[in-house]
Amino acid sequence: TTKTYDYLIVGAGLFGSVFAHEAKQRGKKCLIIDKRSHAGGNVYCENVEGINVHKYGAHIFHTNDKHIWEYVNSFVEFNRYTNSPVAVYKDELYNLPFNMNTFYQLWKVRTPEEAKAKIQSQIDQLNIKEPANLEEQALSLVGTDIYEKLIKGYTEKQWGRPATELPAFIIKRLPVRFTYDNNYFNDKYQGIPIGGYNKLTEALTEGVEIKLNVDFFKNREEWESQADTVVFTGNIDQYYNYQFGQLQYRSLNFEHQTLETDNYQGNAVVNYNEREVPYTRVIEHKHFEFGTQPKTVITKEYPQEWTAEKEPYYPINDTRNNDIYKNYKDLADQESKVIFGGRLAEYKYYDMHQIIGSALKKVKDVFQD
Ligand code: UDP
Repeated sequence: TTKTYDYLIVGAGLFGSVFAHEAKQRGKKCLIIDKRSHAGGNVYCENVEGINVHKYGAHIFHTNDKHIWEYVNSFVEFNRYTNSPVAVYKDELYNLPFNMNTFYQLWKVRTPEEAKAKIQSQIDQLNIKEPANLEEQALSLVGTDIYEKLIKGYTEKQWGRPATELPAFIIKRLPVRFTYDNNYFNDKYQGIPIGGYNKLTEALTEGVEIKLNVDFFKNREEWESQADTVVFTGNIDQYYNYQFGQLQYRSLNFEHQTLETDNYQGNAVVNYNEREVPYTRVIEHKHFEFGTQPKTVITKEYPQEWTAEKEPYYPINDTRNNDIYKNYKDLADQESKVIFGGRLAEYKYYDMHQIIGSALKKVKDVFQD
């Protein structure tokens, strides 16, 4: 072609970084642009007092897919961090995910049989046939006590809507176990990149040109004219000028604090499950990497309504939004010179390993190898 680049990649997050790496391996010339002043998207970490601070929310890598695990480990080594959040509800502490430790803390039951009987007796009283929303799904999985103490308040402040108006799939992310196992994830592989996530995204984009502080939409035609194909990882509704209406997101406000103590809460993740506490969790970043720095950095996470100036963190996959997305997706499917990928362009509640999986799949389709 006569264009300067084979691919213009809009957005320097994980999808764009994986795509850039794979395209470069195949001899393609890529330019990545990003409106932020740094690359890495939401996995970007900022070094404060020698601690990698997850600026856009805690990221814990986990996957069941050996290929994806080996793929990320080929760029950076991972540590043995295992996520075991603690939940606070009215001054009581509970282990997560819901497991024998939690059941003991709630009801003093010691055996799986007792725990199952307790939960089942609560489920039986409810008589829910087919769960139609998050509340019914949660109730029919764990019964009333766990729902009221550990799910309802957290979920409603996280999403800003009643649990009866939320899709059931969100809660299926959370395991229920009848063993004394506080590992939040069921996946075979889990960890944090040693030295932080920037090591991963920097290794992926090594040798790829990146332009920062660039808003694609301020000069759209000019950017588009520079490459044969565009890889777009931003909001798909914005790409299509909101012609079918705006998609909704949930945003977050992060309050970061540096404290003069070496250990504030003894765990990387502490959830606050009461509706009355305005934040959902407090992250103590050093514990992701077993840090021994003299100070500590904590982040309080406050869910908030999304507006155009705020960061769109979570897609809200209710029926209304999914219907709108479907219209954009139909347009996207007709494009031959634009590739859409990532949480925002696919309007999907993706985890990191899923983004990497979808980028590698896209690469396979595009390059047919
Ligand atoms: N959740 C909950 N109580 C908790 C943690 C999670 O009810 O203590 C529910 C809540 O509905 C939340 C969902 O599980 O939206 C997924 O939580 P997770 O922490 O996995 O999501 P993340 O925000 O980390 O992607």
